[in-house]
Amino acid sequence: MFNKKIFRNQQLKFMLFNLIAFTVIFTIFSIIIFSQVQQTLFSKTDEELLSFKEMLVDNMLNDVNSPPQNKDNGPRPPKDRQRGIPNPRMIVLNWDKDGNIVNEDQIGSLFYENYLQDYHLDPSNIDEITMTTINNLYHFRYILFKDTNKDDDIAYTQLMINVDAEQTIMSNFEKLITICAAIFIILSISASYILSRKMMQPIIHSWNKQAEFVENASHELRTPLTIIQNKLELLLTKPQDRIADKFESIALSLSETRRLSKLTSDLLTLARADSAETQLVKQPIHVDTFIKNVCSPYKEIAESQDKNFWLHLSCNSTIQADEVRFHQLLVILLDNALKYTNDNDSIGVKTYTEDQKIILEVTDTGIGIKDENMKYIFDRFYREDRARSRETGGVGLGLSIAHWIITKHNGTIKVIQNDKRGTTFKIKLPK
Ligand code: ADP
Repeated sequence: MFNKKIFRNQQLKFMLFNLIAFTVIFTIFSIIIFSQVQQTLFSKTDEELLSFKEMLVDNMLNDVNSPPQNKDNGPRPPKDRQRGIPNPRMIVLNWDKDGNIVNEDQIGSLFYENYLQDYHLDPSNIDEITMTTINNLYHFRYILFKDTNKDDDIAYTQLMINVDAEQTIMSNFEKLITICAAIFIILSISASYILSRKMMQPIIHSWNKQAEFVENASHELRTPLTIIQNKLELLLTKPQDRIADKFESIALSLSETRRLSKLTSDLLTLARADSAETQLVKQPIHVDTFIKNVCSPYKEIAESQDKNFWLHLSCNSTIQADEVRFHQLLVILLDNALKYTNDNDSIGVKTYTEDQKIILEVTDTGIGIKDENMKYIFDRFYREDRARSRETGGVGLGLSIAHWIITKHNGTIKVIQNDKRGTTFKIKLPK
């Protein structure tokens, strides 16, 4: 119940993060596209405004520098300014210093009366391209600049271009982006929900695995501890007894202590494996020689148990491996082979090369593993026969550790049911 609440909160957090990330990405894209479109749409207009302004300013400077040709002509009429207008959409307004339009006749009185009568000079944006609206309806882009020619009564010149068409495109585009944003928000809420669920799945899975691991470990630790505690309490009830009389209790406690010690060291290995804390120290190992050395005590044990032990080592290769872990791997497989075979059974280790890979097989003619249980045997704490495992001292962690060691050496391990009897563990390692 508590876990479910934590998971739900975490999923909600993931969902929020995803939603925020999606929204930020969409907003950035929208802003970039919007400003690009706007820039492209108005770039031609702005270029025309600037180049015409430049032309007019050049004319003004020429007028100032060259003396008037004919004094009687008086100040040059503003009409001259209209010459060379490159775009018919361009409107030139000449303002006097009191803010009145002085070239009303050039603009056309009809146009002036209809649109510009209530239009005022706004000198706050000098030399900057600005947007303006006339009659709250018509959109213009304009540039206003000071007139340097002292010969006339023009104080400011304003160049304007009507951009209603561009403005309509922009407002349509704005509407489109708003609609897209609404659709996007709905889509990203659903996507965030699906994604957050997907993100939570491995977390829930490993959380459950971890909880199961802790539960199993506690259970496995409790059993030997209870046995030891009972035996010690029994010993305490008769302190005057001799050790020889209590031999059984002491031996059992000792064997449970050994079991505890092995269990804790296995648990530690797996816990370190999970946290990727264990670093392997790889070095060149001659496979056949190494296996021969590790197997030699096992040969003796097998023979002492009336079991046949054979070796077929023919790979004659060297691999990069962690010596301690490679030894541990062989011990796990050989221990199991001994544990799960009976008198007169045989145990063998074989090495050879196949497809540029080193193959190591540990095979036995023992009790074998049922087909339906094959898929579980590398799971932690899995034991096919709990009663037998307890007898033999196994807790079901050996093959999990073996699997981890092989994976860390970039190899694979699989279990094969022998044709006649028993099991073969086949390991493939890269050369
Ligand atoms: P355990 O410590 O119980 O042996 P392992 O992880 O080494 O744990 O093995 C898991 C289980 O796989 C064992 O309990 C046993 O049922 C089965 N198993 C492993 N090796 C063999 C084998 N050579 N023959 C038959 N069964 C085996």
